[in-house]
Amino acid sequence: MPERRSARPHVHKFGGASLADGAGLARAAAILSRQPAPRVVVASAMAGVTDALLAGAREAAAGNPDALRRVAQTLRQRHLDAAAHALRRAAERRTAVAAIEQAFAELDTLAHALSILRELTPRSSDHIVARGERLSARLVAATLACVSVPVEFVDATEVVRTNGAFGNAVPDLAATDRAVRARLAPLLARGVTPVVPGFLGRAPDGATATLGRGGSDLTATILARALRAVEVTLWKDVPGFLTADPRIVPEARVLPRLDRREAAELAYYGAKVLHPRALIPLAGRAVPIRLRAFNDPEAPGTEVSQRRPLPGYPVQAISSVTRQTMITVAGNGMLGVPGVAARTFGALHQEGISVSLISQASSEHSICFTVPEETADRARAALESAFGEEIRRGEIDGVETLPGLATIAVVGLGMSGTPGISAQIFTALARGGVNVVAIAQGSSELNVSFVVDAEQAAAAVRRIHGTFQLDRIGGGGVEAPATTDVVLLGFGQIGRELTRMLPRARSRSAELRIVAVIDRAGHVFDPKGLSPRRLTALAAAKAAGRDLARAPGGQATPGALHSLSDIARHALTRPILVDLTADDTTLTLRRALESGMHLVLANKRPLAGPRAAMLALQTLADSRGLRILHETTVGAGLPVIDTYYKLVESGDRVLSIEGCTSGTLGFVLSEIGRGRLFSEALTRAMSHGYTEPDPRDDLSGLDVARKALILGRLLGFPGELSDVAIESLVPPAARRLTREEFIGQLTRFDADWQRRAAVARAAGQVLRYVSRATARRVEVGISAVPASSPFAALEGTDNQLIFVTRRYKNNPLIVTGPGAGPAVTAAGVLNDLQRLASLESREI
Ligand code: ADP
Ligand code: ASP
Ligand code: MG
Repeated sequence: MPERRSARPHVHKFGGASLADGAGLARAAAILSRQPAPRVVVASAMAGVTDALLAGAREAAAGNPDALRRVAQTLRQRHLDAAAHALRRAAERRTAVAAIEQAFAELDTLAHALSILRELTPRSSDHIVARGERLSARLVAATLACVSVPVEFVDATEVVRTNGAFGNAVPDLAATDRAVRARLAPLLARGVTPVVPGFLGRAPDGATATLGRGGSDLTATILARALRAVEVTLWKDVPGFLTADPRIVPEARVLPRLDRREAAELAYYGAKVLHPRALIPLAGRAVPIRLRAFNDPEAPGTEVSQRRPLPGYPVQAISSVTRQTMITVAGNGMLGVPGVAARTFGALHQEGISVSLISQASSEHSICFTVPEETADRARAALESAFGEEIRRGEIDGVETLPGLATIAVVGLGMSGTPGISAQIFTALARGGVNVVAIAQGSSELNVSFVVDAEQAAAAVRRIHGTFQLDRIGGGGVEAPATTDVVLLGFGQIGRELTRMLPRARSRSAELRIVAVIDRAGHVFDPKGLSPRRLTALAAAKAAGRDLARAPGGQATPGALHSLSDIARHALTRPILVDLTADDTTLTLRRALESGMHLVLANKRPLAGPRAAMLALQTLADSRGLRILHETTVGAGLPVIDTYYKLVESGDRVLSIEGCTSGTLGFVLSEIGRGRLFSEALTRAMSHGYTEPDPRDDLSGLDVARKALILGRLLGFPGELSDVAIESLVPPAARRLTREEFIGQLTRFDADWQRRAAVARAAGQVLRYVSRATARRVEVGISAVPASSPFAALEGTDNQLIFVTRRYKNNPLIVTGPGAGPAVTAAGVLNDLQRLASLESREI
């Protein structure tokens, strides 16, 4: 590429994660040589070097010089290895090796000195860590020289002037502008690429001062400002500025464009990808910053500039900072004390402590704000001394600190003009069980920030990310979401039927999307949704007896609770857990609610188990604003529970619900009524798949009792399953037999059944297995009902429920229809899912 002298340069900064080793150096050189000239390069220390040097220096000052010596040995070897890998020319290699040896030999001497002095001042700390950037920049320069790019290493102290606040120095921009132009412009004019160590500057006395952690980004923008660069490119180990920290939200998406104010806010509140002060030097200048992927240099990355934000994306991204302490200055007498706020922040300013969030005070009785944990003690001392007089007089109670917190910021320029954002954020947090300690004053219109327990910070970020669908292009808005994520617990016949129905189901609101299926051995999960084809393949494998854990993409876990916990760690969109098992799933259901999932139950056991457990589940759901729908627990797809609630909501009172709710028993008894033998009737039921594997599970009446208990509990029945009177149809003589023995001896019981049917017929009655539920009593058993009863007309596996209410007393309300089978049950579950999906979209 022809070099255009005296043109405005491009500034390229390579982050530490990119320059991790020799291969990183070589890649940096390859990337750079393809970039338009003129170019300026800024280099960070190789990954982990700054941390290691700092830790070693602290150890040495604590009296352990060998720790720093060991660090020096390791780092020396890493740099030598990188040089050996990246530097093809012997001359370059020799110079680099000499610089490396010198840097670490000096460290050896320093280790000794520190351990004697027992003190690590910010100034000596800066002196020590600076070698990380210096060596790295030398290696980058040498690597470029090896591929014939004309380069010159220029030390940062030659060009970046600072105020000398060691550890967190502030650049003197005007002085720096002059120094940069004087030193770099002539190089650029000659077609030479200057390579400058990042993070460093010169204190007024000539010493080296660092610009604060992550300061190489700032070096890049300082140089860009002075040289009126075309653009600053920050080469990162991530593909750009993401909607959230990818270590917290793996599905975070690259933002194509971000306004400078948004980027500054996110960086300030913990988005480590950009130094919080990096944007300051470019204020008022039209120099865009581009964050690009070191591992994918062709990808566009993120442009941070003053271009208008893309419309329709009110919420752009979320960031979080942990290790925060909240400080409260409170007291009844504060109203009368002049200038409390000004004095509070004045005292902190004096101490050089920056306050990250000031919370809304409900009254003027307190001021709350957060500071980084390590400055909390100093902050408290400063405030106690500033308000010493008022504290003595009792006007101010004192200064309280609450450690272990995190500050989270939800950022986007369009937020102020879009109603409902805060409501949505705080609803999402409530659903996730995240306790909000404080909410920030709405000082800036592009940010909603709040404080939570540090332990809940990741969960909070994921929730909000999911709520605004930031993982999708077009996310970030408050319009109804495109999808509702469904997790299936149990993948038997009903689950498989449901996966067949879902793609064809017409949705009034959000599209229902199955993201995970769980069985006893593990799960298959894809946060982007399992395609119908994949579900069909899984269903076929499952029907053939293969566990999900062994399916492609399957994950083995010790149980459903583990599977659910794994899945719930992701940012799902309005998730719903569907329990299609017949197991005791209470713990898993609790975890689902705690993770913000609504529940759809086809499983009766959680509602027919211990009453206390059932109530606890309901209370948990209520506290999170979540719903538990369970239409299919009684009467499969028939609208039973729905009818109950419709009656109650219309002001009616349901007095009793009677029913024939067992398709199996209904079938067997109506066959017997027609004169068929018991053994024949049961064999037919089994061959149609109407029974449990052991038909005695149906005949025992336990399943009907569970349904009756669920209905009874709706009506206020306070008892347990053991309080339900159950008449079993398994003859005492058959109870001890094995399944095979029982099935082999069915004809033994024919005579007895024939007699019972004949007696009933003679009295103009038929036999039915009936359940009765009121607020006081729940019972299930065989009943001879008059031929005129609606129960008598039931055919096959049909179910029937009779509601006697205050309004429907003489002429009860009857619901009849097919009450068993995978297809009708799956349809009922689908109905519940659709109700939840449309409920969610109405809430917005
Ligand atoms: P550099 O190597 O340039 O110094 P950093 O390591 O300082 O880069 O910053 C990159 C890291 O920032 C990423 O690896 C990522 O873990 C973290 N990070 C935090 N928030 C974000 C975000 N919103 N977008 C991208 N990366 C982020
Ligand atoms: N190496 C320094 C740090 O780790 C500066 C930087 O990487 O930007 O903080
Ligand atoms: Mg950084």
